[in-house]
Amino acid sequence: YAPLAEIDPEVKNIIDKETWRQFTGLELIASENLTSKAAMEANGSILTNKYSEGLPNARYYGGNEYIDELEVLCRKRALEAFHLDASQWGVNVQPYSGSTANFAALTALIQPQDRLMGLGLPDGGHLTHGYYTAKKKMTASSIYFQSLPYSIIPDSGLIDYEKLAAQAKIYKPKLIICGASAYPRDWDYARLKEIASKEGAWLMADIAHTSGLIAAQELNSPFEYCDVVTTTTHKTLRGPRAGLIFFRKDLEHAKDLEKRVNDAVFPACQGGPHNNTIAAIATSLKQVAQPEWKAYAKQVIANARALSETLVGHGYKLQTGGTDNHLVLWDLRPIGVTGSKVEKVCDLMGITINKNAVSGDASAQVPGGIRLGTSALTSRDMREDDIRQVGEFLHRAVQISLVLQKEAGSKLLKDFVRVATTAEEGKVGHQQVRDLRTE
Ligand code: PLP
Repeated sequence: YAPLAEIDPEVKNIIDKETWRQFTGLELIASENLTSKAAMEANGSILTNKYSEGLPNARYYGGNEYIDELEVLCRKRALEAFHLDASQWGVNVQPYSGSTANFAALTALIQPQDRLMGLGLPDGGHLTHGYYTAKKKMTASSIYFQSLPYSIIPDSGLIDYEKLAAQAKIYKPKLIICGASAYPRDWDYARLKEIASKEGAWLMADIAHTSGLIAAQELNSPFEYCDVVTTTTHKTLRGPRAGLIFFRKDLEHAKDLEKRVNDAVFPACQGGPHNNTIAAIATSLKQVAQPEWKAYAKQVIANARALSETLVGHGYKLQTGGTDNHLVLWDLRPIGVTGSKVEKVCDLMGITINKNAVSGDASAQVPGGIRLGTSALTSRDMREDDIRQVGEFLHRAVQISLVLQKEAGSKLLKDFVRVATTAEEGKVGHQQVRDLRTE
C-alpha cells in the first residue's frame, strides 16, 4: 500500500515530467484531450483486479455482481449521451481501444476476404478502415478483408461522394466505413446511406474523432443512417483510452446484430473486459450528459474556427479552407516547408502538433501538412482570444522553420535548440518557454 513515489520513484519521476510537459506545453494533437480527474480516479481503481469475461449476468467467473451493475450503468449512459432509444440501439462498452472496436465491428458485419471501402489514409481515413500500400497489407483490416479506398476531391478537400458511388457500383463492397482521423468537415450520412443501400452494403461510422461533438448535437448524427457506429472514448469525448460499438437492434434483416457484435468483441477479438476503464467511461459519459458539455463542444468548434481564421489571415492554405469540427488541416506545401520540420520546431517550443498528409502528398513518410486540434486546450478553458495567440505562435514556428531550413548548422539554430532543450529539461520555467514562443 506504499505510494508510487516510494515503491517506484523512477516511474513516478517519468509521470511527473510528463505532467509538466502536458501542463506547461500547448497540446494541439487533434486525437488527444485531458481526461477529468474523476474519470482517472475510476480508471486507477481496484476494478482493475477483476476478471469478468462475458456479459452482465452471463460471466465465466464468479464475483461479478458489482461489475455487472457497472457495465449495465455504462451502457445506459452511453445510449443517453448519444440520445439513443434503447429499443433501437444497443452498445458494447468492452473494446480496449478504437482499433479493436473497429476490428470487432468488421468481424461482426462481414466475412474474411469480403470487400469493404473506407476513406483512404492519405485523404484522412484511419489505418483500421482497410489501409494498405502498394508494398504491404499492414493492417488487420486489409490483411483479413479486401478493401478499396475512396477519396477526397483534390481541389476542395471534400469527400468525393460521386466517385464513391461510382466505385461502389463496380466494387460491390459488403461494407462502407465513414469517419476519419483527419477530415475537418462534417459528413453527409444520408448520401452515404443512399450509396450503401444501393449496393446492399452495411454502413458503419467511426466517429472516434468527433463523438464528443456529435453527443453535444453540434455535428450531424450518424445514428439515423448507420447500422453500426464505433468510437474511441478519449478524443473529443474526453474519457479514458477505450472504444465503444453501437449497433442497431431493430433491423428486420439482421435481428442477430446484437449477438454478432457482442460475440465479435468477446471471444473473437478480446478476453476479459478492463473494468477500471469501463468505470472511467461511465464517469466520462455522465459528464458528457451534463448541460456544460454542450458549451464545451461549442467552444471546441469556435476555437478551431478562430485558429483557422488566424492562419488564413497570415495567408496560409488550409485543406477545405476551414473547419466544421475540432480539427484544422494545414497545408504547408505552398510555403516550402515539411510538416515534420514544423513538428520538430514546435516540439522545441513546447507546442505539440503532428505532421499529417494533405491531399496529393507524394509520400506519407514526409507529409506536407500539419493536423491541429482544439479539444485539449478547450478543456484548459481557452477561448477564441487565447487560441488566436496560439495561432500566432504557430505562425512564428513556421517562420523559424523556414529560417532554420535555410541556415542549417547556423548559430541561430544552435541557440534555439539550446534554449528549447534547457526548457524541456525543466531547468527554466514556464514563462521562459512562453518567451521563446514570442521572441
Ligand atoms: N478510428 C479513428 C478514426 C481514429 O482516429 C483512431 C485513432 O486515432 C482510431 C480509430 C484508433 O483508436 P485507438 O488508438 O484507440 O486504437
